[in-house]
Amino acid sequence: MEYPGNLFVVAAPSGAGKSSLVKALLELDAKLSVSVSHTSRAPRGQEQHGREYLFIAPDEFRSMVDRSEFFEWAEVHGNLYGTSRAAIEARISHGDDVVLEIDYQGALQIKQLFPHAVLIFILPPSWDELKQRLIRRGDTEEAVIAQRMENARHEVAQARHFDFVVINAVFETALFDLKSVVQAQRLKYATQRRNRSTVFRALDLI
Ligand code: GDP
Ligand code: ADP
Ligand code: 5GP
Repeated sequence: MEYPGNLFVVAAPSGAGKSSLVKALLELDAKLSVSVSHTSRAPRGQEQHGREYLFIAPDEFRSMVDRSEFFEWAEVHGNLYGTSRAAIEARISHGDDVVLEIDYQGALQIKQLFPHAVLIFILPPSWDELKQRLIRRGDTEEAVIAQRMENARHEVAQARHFDFVVINAVFETALFDLKSVVQAQRLKYATQRRNRSTVFRALDLI
């Protein structure tokens, strides 16, 4: 499947800074929008239906799976998460760029469907720093932290399947790196030819 818009897929172990970085990236770049996933988990704290996620019952999620309404879906930490076709197809077919903030299993499914998707893995600078960020964020239960650290070991091992790696030590540096990946994708020959066709035509390249 070839769409004119770029698809950026960002994955990371919980606590590496994925949400903070993507949020800051979107504020810098008006041409990017994020895909809102469906999930079977209950909303936390201030989360709103349609903003962080589309919250649906597990049965409804299963029905959507049966109707092939997801591009990808996965079970993460015991809950179901998925990217619906409706969430991204309209946008990338119109040439808009979309960011998916999803787990590594979903990222690898997307790469199979869209080989041009750009897969970016966010790494924490160390295990110790990852743990500190989980604690600072408010995950205080020892068992929850231990479970997330255990999962993180498996998740981090998947980074080798990704196109780019951003190490989130200093936030502003990581944000610059993430922005650079987006910019590099937009400067690719095929993308430039599509988006800057007037220049290409003037130079007899089309
Ligand atoms: P949540 O969605 O409410 O959990 O918020 P996040 O965890 O995604 O981020 C909270 C805020 O902190 C965001 O506005 C981030 O931009 C900001 N932030 C997080 N870490 C750093 C950092 O190291 N440096 C800077 N400058 N901002 C940060
Ligand atoms: P994720 O979405 O990957 O689970 P978050 O974006 O929620 O991670 O970040 C986890 C915690 O780490 C948050 O409290 C966030 O403010 C903090 N954080 C993110 N990046 C950095 C950084 N470079 N230095 C210090 N703290 C950070
Ligand atoms: P949380 O419940 O903490 O918001 O997210 C838990 C995990 O599910 C994170 O790793 C997040 O990236 C992942 N996730 C969120 N939405 C999707 C999605 O649509 N598809 C997949 N595969 N994973 C998702």
